[in-house]
Amino acid sequence: MKREDKIKKLAAAIQSEIVSCPNEQSYDEGDAIWISGLPIDLQDLLMNHAVPEELEEAVVAKLRCPSCGTSFKIWQEVGTKYDFEVSHENVIDQALARHGKQLFDFYGFLHKNPLLEASHPFGKKILSEFKKAPRLALQKSEWFRARVNKEHGFGPAPAELVADQRYNSSGQSRWYFADNAETAVAETAKEGTAWVQKFDVGNLDGLLDLRAWRADDERALDSEGEYRPPHDLLLVSLVYGDLLTQRHFLDDIAGQPDAKARQWKPEYLVSRFVAEAASAANLTGILCNSVRYPGDNLIVFDSYWSPKLVGDPVSVTLDEDALRLRQNYFFNQGEGLTIPDVG
Ligand SMILES: [Zn+2]
Repeated sequence: MKREDKIKKLAAAIQSEIVSCPNEQSYDEGDAIWISGLPIDLQDLLMNHAVPEELEEAVVAKLRCPSCGTSFKIWQEVGTKYDFEVSHENVIDQALARHGKQLFDFYGFLHKNPLLEASHPFGKKILSEFKKAPRLALQKSEWFRARVNKEHGFGPAPAELVADQRYNSSGQSRWYFADNAETAVAETAKEGTAWVQKFDVGNLDGLLDLRAWRADDERALDSEGEYRPPHDLLLVSLVYGDLLTQRHFLDDIAGQPDAKARQWKPEYLVSRFVAEAASAANLTGILCNSVRYPGDNLIVFDSYWSPKLVGDPVSVTLDEDALRLRQNYFFNQGEGLTIPDVG
């Protein structure tokens, strides 16, 4: 390999490990307290990558702090990812490498054969995987539902009025909740105003947890503090492949004529099958990320179940910032992000 190529390759490998520099840290009487990244001497990092001494200077010259953009001196410290962050990223990479192609093939297959889900290899795998997936007992008992009109109460709609939704097909009446009032309104009311009813769902268990987790989530760390994902690779690919959290952006723009007219919602193809497979595996419901707004959703399959009402419904209106957040919210590899405002 030519010298220049070797330098480039080494620099790229080292760069991918750096997350911060002293500029991102907090200082107490001149001493850095590392709050972003795990500190390591740059010299040690070069040694870990077996950078030959004669190339050190040239490699360091190519490195930049991804947080602030500054260049480095060879004697300084830089911040790297923690082991659990590296493990988390590796698990996602592995899951998508092993199952991603088949997952997306399944998604394409459903566009043409929405009723033959269970005949596809990935559909088959989901059906058998859910039978042994961990059952979650809910820790939180207060959940919220929103309605633009409160005349008909806050229970699930009768089957004949139920359209395809993210975790049900038309005619399948289900309980959908959000873990906070704003998220419930964001999901229900285009104009941003709705009545919100609080519920006490008691000690629900038997749930399938499809929420993405972060590297340092309690859910993903064992008693020793080691990273251990709560699901095996197939479910990791399902959660981090972003097919459960796709959204159709025009639906959220008030007055947008396309939203109501649109009958076919391919963004629900995978999630509807997932819900049915979970129900078939005797799970009671699903816990997932809200797709429209920061927060969690709880879906309970049994529409005859009746959780306790807490207090009276209150009217909640989202302010402009909240509406903009909803409009710009999207998922990338399990993480809810907002696109910068372009309008
Ligand atoms: Zn920096």
